[in-house]
Amino acid sequence: MPKRKMKYSKQARNDRNRLIFIISAVVVVCLAVIVAIIFWTPQQNPEEGSSSSLSEEAASSSDVSSMPVISSEESVVSSEEPDSSESVQSPSASSQPNTSASVSVPVTEIDGDWKLVLANPTHRLPDDFSIETAPIQNYTMDARAVGPAKEMIAAAKADGIDLLVCSAYRPISSQRRLYNEKVQEYLNQGYGQARAEEIAATIVAIPGTSEHQTGLALDIVTPSYQRLDDGYADTAAAKWLKANAADYGFILRFPQDKEEITKIIFEPWHYRYVGVDAAKEIMSRGICLEEYLGEVD
Ligand SMILES: [Zn+2]
Repeated sequence: MPKRKMKYSKQARNDRNRLIFIISAVVVVCLAVIVAIIFWTPQQNPEEGSSSSLSEEAASSSDVSSMPVISSEESVVSSEEPDSSESVQSPSASSQPNTSASVSVPVTEIDGDWKLVLANPTHRLPDDFSIETAPIQNYTMDARAVGPAKEMIAAAKADGIDLLVCSAYRPISSQRRLYNEKVQEYLNQGYGQARAEEIAATIVAIPGTSEHQTGLALDIVTPSYQRLDDGYADTAAAKWLKANAADYGFILRFPQDKEEITKIIFEPWHYRYVGVDAAKEIMSRGICLEEYLGEVD
């Protein structure tokens, strides 16, 4: 009897050990899966987790579900040399690869008032869009808006405010180059063409969807505060601009409370020429350009 009992007891111990082994194995497998997921996810979705620092033009894909809702306009284009490609820009864009089918954005209407041309994540400038530019500080912009811009800067100066232009016209051709380089980067990583373009569009603007390509946008800071962040809004320069820019035909293009409509984060430095009448109405009513144009998607 005792012997038998001992046998049972030994059997029970073996069973218990087997159970512990199985549980341990399951735990190890689960941990391995979790670790794999953690390290695998960023590689599969490089655009995720960087949504707070995306460019203006980022929210451009037709696949909205995988896109950050709101982007920033400036961060990724700062490395671009302003206007460097103007001299090699061909009148026909046929030699350049087009933007993709997967991230295609409808071409914007350009028959109307030039001052009100809309370039945003859902309205793309045509590939052959071109303007005559003229210098504004160290940059260039649409020659037709330079006069008002200079008047505005001079008026600020008279009020003791130094306005410093830190970005203005960016040719579509250089945006296209940046975009194509980014697409190539993802192709090299093994992504298919459509997916590579989709991811690239979350990081670099789809050519033609940045307002800077209209030549009517200016990023304006002040010598004592040149960072493009929310803190700029508290400077005397930003306050002066918000209060006075409309008198010169400029609007605060990406207001804080319009991010859902513009799909662009609050950018207290980004001003857009629309002409005095439109600017005064837009700024006094506290609306954004999309609302003014009835182009709220
Ligand atoms: Zn800007």
